[in-house]
Amino acid sequence: MKSADIRQAFLDYFAAKSHQVVPSSSLIPGNDPTLLFTNAGMVPFKDVFLGDEQRGYRRATSSQRCVRAGGKHNDLENVGYTARHHTFFEMLGNFSFGDYFKQDAIRFAWDFLTKELRLPEEKLWVTVHVSDDEAADIWFNEIGIDKSRFSRLDEDNFWQMGDTGPCGPSSEIFYDHGEDVPGGPPGSENDDLDRYIEIWNLVFMQYERQASGELVELPNPSIDTGMGLERIAAVMQGVHNNYDIDIFQGLLKAAAKATGCEDLTNKSLRVIADHIRSCSFLICDGVMPSNEGRGYVLRRIIRRAVRHGYQLGQSKPFFYTLIDALAEQMGDAYPELNDQHDKIAAALKAEEEQFARTLEKGLSVLDAALDKLEGTVIPGDVIFQLYDTYGFPTDLTNDLARERGLSLDLDGYEQAMNAQRERARAAGSFKVDYTDAIKLDSETEFCGYDALASTAKVV
Ligand code: ATP
Ligand code: MG
Ligand code: MG
Ligand code: MG
Repeated sequence: MKSADIRQAFLDYFAAKSHQVVPSSSLIPGNDPTLLFTNAGMVPFKDVFLGDEQRGYRRATSSQRCVRAGGKHNDLENVGYTARHHTFFEMLGNFSFGDYFKQDAIRFAWDFLTKELRLPEEKLWVTVHVSDDEAADIWFNEIGIDKSRFSRLDEDNFWQMGDTGPCGPSSEIFYDHGEDVPGGPPGSENDDLDRYIEIWNLVFMQYERQASGELVELPNPSIDTGMGLERIAAVMQGVHNNYDIDIFQGLLKAAAKATGCEDLTNKSLRVIADHIRSCSFLICDGVMPSNEGRGYVLRRIIRRAVRHGYQLGQSKPFFYTLIDALAEQMGDAYPELNDQHDKIAAALKAEEEQFARTLEKGLSVLDAALDKLEGTVIPGDVIFQLYDTYGFPTDLTNDLARERGLSLDLDGYEQAMNAQRERARAAGSFKVDYTDAIKLDSETEFCGYDALASTAKVV
């Protein structure tokens, strides 16, 4: 089954169950300044869940374009390392706004997987929240699942959009890709390896998380589900890795041609194929590369892609040419890729040309520093120099470090950044405005733009 057919089958299935088919919204959340990008199918419906907005329907279904490259859900650093993460993906979802609740949500999902898609039950594994006896009872007594493929988890089964907003306990369905793949079932020690891959998350939206951290009951218990199109396509196409599905094969071939790399499973090639999707769709939705906010996230993704192309031996602009292959793969579902083709290509090319001027020099500065390096930590002044003089975002330097088994001294980096600010202030010279960089990551409501935000460093 092609990805496009799976998308259609999903929407048709829920339309037949009285769900309004709603087109994908923009990657820029309409009226939510707390959220960097649309990171889930529920985002466009946030106000409906909160009871602040009424629509002419109480059931909806969509295939929503999502980006997880910053903020609470950030998969930038997973791309190229796992079989299942992208910066851009499509989330298939069905939603109930105070209409049906757990029982129907579970039944719909199970029937879609086992009856429509005819997946064998013994390949599926189910989890619920530790506290959720109601959901567990439905799975055992009404669906009749096998208790040996079931677990109760804590944080992994509580979903929230961001630090504030609608949230609730969830129930997730995993697909077992078989013994040949390393990894254990959900809840076991190695569950993050890619044998059991989470395909569908059913969220029982019951609360709103306040800025204070407090949970307040929503006016109506609701349902929000999300299934990654690329992950279910991998299952249906009999492949383990998302990058082996139809959509990605076309992109990988184009990237191979553009970089001269012949191995379609090459990690850098996969990163490039992933990044052309997020970058193109972000530009399509009005983000342009810049030094701030969303534009800086876009800049970082483009620069990572360009660096991976360079790694494959391509030092000329190539990334922008991949928009043709993307439009070919996804232009039917997203005509705007064709309509805005030239704008996207021009923006990508300009950014590539700009970064090309400093990339090679920056890499040689890094090499020289690594020749002298004792230990496995890249010093802060090197990271700062790469950032400040050569335009290397810290996640790009981290990507390089990781490939070499090294890590970054982010405290030292911060000190180098502060020292530079001091010097600029003392000299009364404001030719370089470091306030951009300060603002960037100190906006804590976004949980840090930096891919290294997990270490909570200010950039
Ligand atoms: P994982 O644990 O694998 O990182 P998640 O729990 O973060 O996934 P959810 O927030 O529950 O994912 O999102 C709902 C669904 O969207 C997931 O079950 C998965 O199918 C899909 N999904 C989530 N993140 C990604 C991603 N980065 N790339 C592709 N699909 C994704
Ligand atoms: Mg995740
Ligand atoms: Mg998960
Ligand atoms: Mg999940």
